[in-house]
Amino acid sequence: MFLTHLGCTSCGLRHEWSRLQNLCTACQKPLFPIYDLAAVGRALNRDSLATREKSLWRYREVLPLPPDVEPVSLGEGGTPLLRAARFGGGLGARNLWIKDEAQNPTQSFKARGMAVAVSMAKHLGATRLAVPTAGNAGGALAAYAARAGLEAHIFMPRDTPRANVIECRELGADVVLIDGLITDCGTEIARRKEAEGWFDMSTLKEPYRVEGKKTLGYELAEQLDWKLPDVVLYPTGGGTGLIGMWKAFDEMEALGWIGSARPRMFSIQASGCAPIVRAFEAGATSAAEFPDAHTCASGLRVPKAVGDFLMLKILRESKGGAVTVDDEAMIRITREVGSTEGLFVAPEGAACFAALKSLLASGKIAPDERIVIFNTGSGIKYLDCYEQ
Ligand SMILES: *Cc1c(COP(=O)(O)O)cnc(C)c1O
Ligand SMILES: [Zn+2]
Repeated sequence: MFLTHLGCTSCGLRHEWSRLQNLCTACQKPLFPIYDLAAVGRALNRDSLATREKSLWRYREVLPLPPDVEPVSLGEGGTPLLRAARFGGGLGARNLWIKDEAQNPTQSFKARGMAVAVSMAKHLGATRLAVPTAGNAGGALAAYAARAGLEAHIFMPRDTPRANVIECRELGADVVLIDGLITDCGTEIARRKEAEGWFDMSTLKEPYRVEGKKTLGYELAEQLDWKLPDVVLYPTGGGTGLIGMWKAFDEMEALGWIGSARPRMFSIQASGCAPIVRAFEAGATSAAEFPDAHTCASGLRVPKAVGDFLMLKILRESKGGAVTVDDEAMIRITREVGSTEGLFVAPEGAACFAALKSLLASGKIAPDERIVIFNTGSGIKYLDCYEQ
C-alpha cells in the first residue's frame, strides 16, 4: 500500500486516509491522496504494465485501495485512444486523437471516479452514499453502489436527461428530483446528510473520485508510448478529470515515466454555463457562480465548482486556454463527428470538436500538433437534445 495520507490542495494540512473524509477540516478545500512515489518507483516499472488487465486497476500502485481489498468494479477504464483521421483530415489536423470514454460502464467517464470512490467508501465503512449530479455521475454511483451492496441517494435537477433518471431508478437508487441546478442538489444533501447518515460523494468534496479520473492521464501516456500530446481539449464541468490528469502527469514525472513537458490544457464549456472561461479571461484565480446556467450538455451545467482555483492554475501553467461553444454548434457537429468517425458522441464531447475548429482558425492550435479530444460520454443518453 503506497498511499500515505490526504493533503489539502490549498493549505497543505494532512488528513488521515483511513477515515471517511470530505473537504479539508481547516479551510474547506479539496483533499488529494498522496503516495510514497519513491516506493512505487521501486516496486513498479512502467514496462510491466503492458501485461496487466485492461482496466484502470492496472495502475493499482497509484490508487488508494489497499492491495488485499477487492475493488468494486464493472471493468472501467482501458478505453481506446482512436485516431480521428477523417474528421481531422478535413481540418488539416493530421494528428488528432479521440479518447473514447463512452465505452466505460454506464457510458461515461464518471465510472472511473465512482469505481474508485465507491470502493474506498465501502472499505472505510460507509453504507449510504449520496450525490448531487447533472446526470452521468448519478448513473455511475447507482451502478457501483448496487454492485457494492450500498444505498445510493441521487439528487438531480428535474430537467436532467431522461435516460439518466430512468437509469438511476432501474439500478435501484433512491432518486430525488430538485427544482434547481446541481449546486442546489448539493445544498440539499449538505442539509440532510447528518440526520440521514449519508456519505457525501460530491466530486472533489470526496478525495477519491479524482483518483479514478486521474487514470485518464496514465492511460494517455501509456497509449502514446510515454510521450504526452501537445494539446488536450477537455469538456469541463466540475473539472475533476482535468485536475486528475494534471496530478497524474506530476506523479508520472516523479516516477521517471515521463519528462517535464506538459500538454496545453484547454477547458471547453457551454456558452450558457462558462464560469471557468469567464474567470480565465478575467485573469481571476477563482470563478464566480455563473448565473442562469443552461445547456443541453448537462455535464457542463456546473455553475460553481469547488476545484475552480485548481483548474485555473492548470490552464495557466500549461499555457492552455478556455473557450465556449453554444448548444446549437454542439448538436450540429455531432453528426459531422458521427458520420466521419463512427462515434455518437455526447454533446460535451461534441463541444470539443467545435472548439477545435475555432482554436485552429485562431491559430491557438497548429494543425500539425498532436491533439487529444476527450469524448466523455455517449450521445445515446441525450436523445432529448435531438429531433426525431
Ligand atoms: C461530468 C461530465 C463532464 C464534466 O466532467 P468534469 O470532470 O466534472 O469536468 C463532461 N462530460 C460528461 C459527459 C460528463 O458526464
Ligand atoms: Zn486546507
